[in-house]
Amino acid sequence: MKKIVITVDGWSSCGKSTMARQLAKKLSYIFIDSGAMYRAITLFFIRNQVDYTDEQAILLALAQVHLSFKLNEGNGNNEIWLNNENVESFIREMPVAEKVSEVAALGKVRNFAVAQQQLIGSEKGIVMDGRDIGTAVFPDAELKIFMTADIAVRVERRWKELKIKYPKISIEEVRDNLASRDHADSTRAISPLRKPGDALVLDNSHLTPSEQLKMALDWANEKIKD
Ligand code: C5P
Repeated sequence: MKKIVITVDGWSSCGKSTMARQLAKKLSYIFIDSGAMYRAITLFFIRNQVDYTDEQAILLALAQVHLSFKLNEGNGNNEIWLNNENVESFIREMPVAEKVSEVAALGKVRNFAVAQQQLIGSEKGIVMDGRDIGTAVFPDAELKIFMTADIAVRVERRWKELKIKYPKISIEEVRDNLASRDHADSTRAISPLRKPGDALVLDNSHLTPSEQLKMALDWANEKIKD
């Protein structure tokens, strides 16, 4: 059966990774969360106090970063490893969320991540989610999905998730973080978040997870049988 590349871009916290992961499972494709790569690089920069106004320091730091995705047999998810450590839970913490959009705007960081993303997708049979996947990483992808949801719905979903780890976190803090990441991601100079011209829009403000999965799966099956 023909294998295709599926890109899923969109705003922060509109459920891209959840949908993309489920879609990949249904199609027996590889799922790659490109945001996890930017988060893991940010974690490395924070831990090593990398001065990212210094181009040389960025290059030296990136030379020490090795990223890989490994299957966690327990939950069936592809999880990100930074050098020899599974950092899946650390990269979801607030210090990383607060810095990641700044780090992801750096040209050297983007070149580093995009080269790896393109290599991983070169065999097709992949669903990758992020911000620039349909515009910069795989501009020729067979299926491009752009996900969106009302800001109030996104804030509420993310707040419920974060409250488990940070019981004191306020809804305003979550709203500020989403708004500032959306702003930084859509206004940066290199590969800003944009809806690819040929993307199909999936607004999941009022859809259940299974409704949105069915919609995406129908689109994918159409493209696969073309
Ligand atoms: O998808 P997630 O919210 O985990 O991504 C974290 C951050 O990584 C985004 O806010 C964005 O700044 C950056 N990112 C990016 N390009 C991608 C994926 C993520 O710039 N393809």
